[in-house]
Amino acid sequence: MAEKRDFYEILGVGKNATDEELKKAYRQKAKQYHPDLNPNNKAAEAKFKEVNEAYEVLSDADKRARYDQYGHAGVDPNFGAGGPGGGFPGGGFDFDLGDLFGSFFSGGFGGGGRQANPNAPRRGEDVQAKVTLSFEEAAKGCKRTVELNRIERCPECSGSGAEKGTQPVTCPECKGRGQVSAQQRTPFGTIQTSKPCQKCGGRGKIVEKPCQRCRGAGRVSSRGSYELNIPAGIDDRQVINVSGQGNNGINGGPPGDLHVAVFVRPHPFFERDGFNVWCELTVSFAQAALGDSIMVPTLDGKVKFELPPGTQPGAVFNMKGKGIQILNGRGRGDQLVKIVVDVPKNLNQRQRELLRQFNESLGASAPSGVTGRPDDKGGFFGKKKK
Ligand SMILES: [Zn+2]
Ligand SMILES: [Zn+2]
Repeated sequence: MAEKRDFYEILGVGKNATDEELKKAYRQKAKQYHPDLNPNNKAAEAKFKEVNEAYEVLSDADKRARYDQYGHAGVDPNFGAGGPGGGFPGGGFDFDLGDLFGSFFSGGFGGGGRQANPNAPRRGEDVQAKVTLSFEEAAKGCKRTVELNRIERCPECSGSGAEKGTQPVTCPECKGRGQVSAQQRTPFGTIQTSKPCQKCGGRGKIVEKPCQRCRGAGRVSSRGSYELNIPAGIDDRQVINVSGQGNNGINGGPPGDLHVAVFVRPHPFFERDGFNVWCELTVSFAQAALGDSIMVPTLDGKVKFELPPGTQPGAVFNMKGKGIQILNGRGRGDQLVKIVVDVPKNLNQRQRELLRQFNESLGASAPSGVTGRPDDKGGFFGKKKK
């Protein structure tokens, strides 16, 4: 395997870069090497991959911490579960996912009165995982195989805990009740008490020969995968809940749920705002003045767009229905195209002369005058926020 470059170096940021700085650097590099802008350019394609890989690691607080500590080995999926920090994607959730998952941890099955009855069915624990998607995958939906470490019903004993071919037997001491009663004589009379059966630990059944695979627990930890359908329109840091795909239940209890946190990589040209997509389109001075037929990138590929004559810098055009699929709903948002007019630089002698003539033809000898404040102080992405 070729020596890998440093992820911070790839994105051109320092080790202390903030999330915002990372995102900015990523968008810039991704744009530079984007396949749409570098058709049939193998070198750019490789760079684009490299940039994506670096961002995927550094934008994830957990992976970034492992990378900082162990380098590439800390985040190489090939290192598997034996690697540092578990190495398993979706393994550790000790970072800001707490906010995403917080509400789930409080849940439980029949959590009210804490009866210490080991016989009671208990719901399996919830399991967390995460996926990172491209902007387009989130917009349009996709399928993802999620690698999971789960506790499943032991396939060897089908969850009974008894060695294959044998069955747990009813406890002779408590006759399967799990409780034994005792009569106690006191000066005030006879008191009937009951307590968990010691012979069977309150389970009512005794496993004479425990299953070797699960050592009698009836559940085993297993590494598997789950084919997740990701709905179109999902956004960064949303959580998909899949009921019944968590850990297997205990004593016949229901399984827990699977919670998958979704991370979406920013797009080099598109910026998401709800279900709308913003992009900036740079046109020439002449195109803005004369109008033109322009191909605009959209989520559906390039679409012809008629730029009207006399388009002003900063004008925003709405391409209806070209935005993101509304999550769990119908229809799509819009694509909003903001026009940037490229004022020509480094004109040659002839071009300067032509422009002068043009200007004279307007009958204007002076600048068109100061009419007030600049119309778009907030900048492109600043403006739409409010
Ligand atoms: Zn077993
Ligand atoms: Zn018993």
